Amino acid sequence: MSKKLFTPGPGNIPQFIRVQLSKDIIHHRMEDYQHVLFEVTGKLQKVFHTTSDVLILTTSGTGAMESAVVNFFSKGDEVLVINTGFFGERFIQICRTFELNVHSLDYEWGTTYRLEDVKKAFAKYPNIKGVFVIYHETSTGVINNLKELGDFVRHTNALLITDCISGMIHHPFNFDEWYVDCALASSQKGFLLPPGLAFVALSTKAKERMELATLPKYFWDYNKYLSYYKRGQNPYTPAISLVLALDVALDYILEKGVETISKEKRRLREYGEKRLTEIGFTSFIQDDSIKGNVLIPVLINDVDLNKLVEFLDNRYDISVSKGQGKYTDKMLRVGLLSEFTEEDIDYLIEKILEFKAINEVE
Ligand SMILES: *Cc1c(COP(=O)(O)O)cnc(C)c1O
Repeated sequence: MSKKLFTPGPGNIPQFIRVQLSKDIIHHRMEDYQHVLFEVTGKLQKVFHTTSDVLILTTSGTGAMESAVVNFFSKGDEVLVINTGFFGERFIQICRTFELNVHSLDYEWGTTYRLEDVKKAFAKYPNIKGVFVIYHETSTGVINNLKELGDFVRHTNALLITDCISGMIHHPFNFDEWYVDCALASSQKGFLLPPGLAFVALSTKAKERMELATLPKYFWDYNKYLSYYKRGQNPYTPAISLVLALDVALDYILEKGVETISKEKRRLREYGEKRLTEIGFTSFIQDDSIKGNVLIPVLINDVDLNKLVEFLDNRYDISVSKGQGKYTDKMLRVGLLSEFTEEDIDYLIEKILEFKAINEVE
């Protein structure tokens, strides 16, 4: 029996994708790969809602985050990080690693940013060259509004760089209409694939800024990806099997539609949240309007989280996630990236109740 991954990435891989993954690979300098790369990129553009370039990198999501920092900036550049959780903090760390001058807007976990604060930051620091934000903050389950941010940032000299790594597919996203300059995603979150590929969409403004950036880079240099793409290639050996599987996954996603998928996931999140709160957990996010569809974050009350995680894993092959950062031992995160139904949620609830019953007896 395979494990049920109620984790916020990776999730379980559907059978039709596993069939593709088991096939032999092709060579990435030959014509058949060119064809696949063009096809897949066209489908990615549809998913991102852009007519602009989308690059495919072989890396995890964090590699894509680092690539965005080194391609757009130079040492000492002022940037603004909208920090609403663990992954916002990661952007701060990456920017500091490359000696950027980081201003951060730090918010309570479980809340979203205020546009007012962003405007004030620009008034105070008029040289800000980039704004970093997480679309869906996986450590808290909060979805941050990108549209209103794009409407503001497009009138400034700054780039809007969005980590949509877990947000993509499970929420509507519109790169061109929202005036996003760089959007990052990765295969193991909404794309139903194993980890290994990351996707980077670039606006014209972003590509212009790349010419001015002097931070060192070799593997991450977007210009190399753009020029190799013209010949239907990646500069270095890509995770070929994953690119082939991506083609199949994108067909499925586009046929079903991101609107439909995000609505289904939202209903599932609402259902799961209701069931979890019924059995004694507390919803972490208070404001319904900022709840994302990727996971259900709940605070634990009377259970030992480590024991619960171990119990579900050892006895039932169910994987759930603990919190991140300061919430490690306080928050349970039930991920919905796998293709689960309400029956799967019921199964999880049943097993949590069993754990509770055993532990009450002891
Ligand atoms: C998963 C995730 C990442 C990247 O994590 P990797 O482990 O490097 O793939 C980055 N940002 C967000 C919001 C994520 O959910």
